Amino acid sequence: MAVMITDLCINCSSCIDECPATAIVDADSSPIENAEFTYVKPEKCIECVDSSVPKCFDACPTEGAIVWNMPYIAQFNEYYMKGHEKGIYQIRVHKKRGIFSPEANPKPYRKNISLVDREAHTVLAF
Ligand code: SF4
Ligand code: SF4
Repeated sequence: MAVMITDLCINCSSCIDECPATAIVDADSSPIENAEFTYVKPEKCIECVDSSVPKCFDACPTEGAIVWNMPYIAQFNEYYMKGHEKGIYQIRVHKKRGIFSPEANPKPYRKNISLVDREAHTVLAF
């Protein structure tokens, strides 16, 4: 995923239009069943690697609403596929190309964010 949105989100939608990867959707458009919060599609998030600060974080008024998650790369394929099975994520499934897993469809990520911080879902801070 890259980044994920927590239950501290107030659903203000400020982050949605700022995302350069159209990775963020509101709760009504979320692929998660009975979603209550704005959702980041991990298979689309590119961690805004070309910007100094992730655009969603920059737009968000709520401390703690956006946290780090694991890089969306093959090494964490099982992590995301398990999350998909549990309904934490709903990774896009293409009719012909199959699921957009990290293995099949890796995304750029910020290499300066440690795996320890990612695993702990540390709050973004810049
Ligand atoms: S980090 Fe960037 S690409 Fe990822 S959800 Fe936030 S705005 Fe979109
Ligand atoms: S800007 Fe922050 S509080 Fe607003 S919808 Fe996005 S994550 Fe939630």
